[in-house]
Amino acid sequence: GLQIGIVGLPNVGKSTLFNALTKNDVLAANYPFATIEPNVGVVGVPDPRLAVLGRLFKSERIVPATVSFVDIAGIVRGASEGEGLGNKFLAHIREADAICQVIRVFTDSDVHHVDGKVDPRGDLETINTELILADLQTIEKVLPRLQKEARMAKDKQPVLAAIEQAGKVLEGGTTVYAAGLDPAPLRELHLLTAKPFIYVFNVDEEELTNDQLKDELRALVAPAEAVFLDAKIESELIELSDDEALELLQSMGQQESGITQLARVGFDTLGLQTYLTAGPKEARAWTIRKGATAPEAAGVIHTDFQRGFIKAEVVSFQDLVDAGSVAEARARGKARIEGKEYVMADGDVVEFRFNV
Ligand code: GDP
Repeated sequence: GLQIGIVGLPNVGKSTLFNALTKNDVLAANYPFATIEPNVGVVGVPDPRLAVLGRLFKSERIVPATVSFVDIAGIVRGASEGEGLGNKFLAHIREADAICQVIRVFTDSDVHHVDGKVDPRGDLETINTELILADLQTIEKVLPRLQKEARMAKDKQPVLAAIEQAGKVLEGGTTVYAAGLDPAPLRELHLLTAKPFIYVFNVDEEELTNDQLKDELRALVAPAEAVFLDAKIESELIELSDDEALELLQSMGQQESGITQLARVGFDTLGLQTYLTAGPKEARAWTIRKGATAPEAAGVIHTDFQRGFIKAEVVSFQDLVDAGSVAEARARGKARIEGKEYVMADGDVVEFRFNV
């Protein structure tokens, strides 16, 4: 599956957050035979619709969609020059499908800051600079060959133009993602800053409800998504029962944990969506990319389902809940038979028909 790499300067709370993510691991509960890698945390994407389906179908269990986070060792200034862990670090980032940068906002004189002061904007720039420099190196390396190819073959010219534009954006200090450039012609370069970014601001507990601060920080990273959490609180929340956790969250003016928010934002940033299945065994959310067709969606359950796909019976979640059962939804004409071309919609509750 797709993975989100967690990066950030030392002492910003990455390990604290990552520990909370792994303790929250849904793999152990739902996939007993899965091998769990030590540097990967797999988190359930909360979906209240699953509990509703579970009640409707008297399902034995509920299986949410998941999103995976990989812990990537702390970035050091000079990473793009291959210093220390630099090269290895950048190679790990290259493998990630999205980048989640943790930024320290919490003030704690006991926790040393690498640059001596809490400075979200400065931290952001430090990391962006390393990633931007690495991308500029990548572009410099391929540019002579691409220019030559574009002289020989006209169809290479759009790719060259896109890469030259990316170079200009990067020289101006902006990431490819933030500039909103089309990633398609740049894909073969595997640029680091073309990946989707998410920012986690690790704030003091009291600041979780400080909307002015949050707006200021959000503005620093827009159009990328920002999540605000207190990593220390997150590590306490996972030790509590659901009821106790909710009580603690509400005492801080929160409805849900930071990890839950991060899972949802991460899932969305990766360009993923779910469809739902339900029966006596389980109510389950399956992960597909946005725009996936019905046979592709069936293939997520089993490759044979995709190969032998005949049709899908689709009821929207709301229609199913209103009707109370699939049979009643059918009687009301709310169950649609969809073919190979159907593009899945969020909240589709599906049963596939296939040849084996
Ligand atoms: P990393 O180097 O980015 O992985 O940072 P760590 O997770 O190891 O955190 C560094 C130190 O900061 C540890 O002593 C943590 O307990 C502390 N820390 C992490 N998050 C918070 C936070 O939200 N608030 C406070 N006060 N301390 C934190």
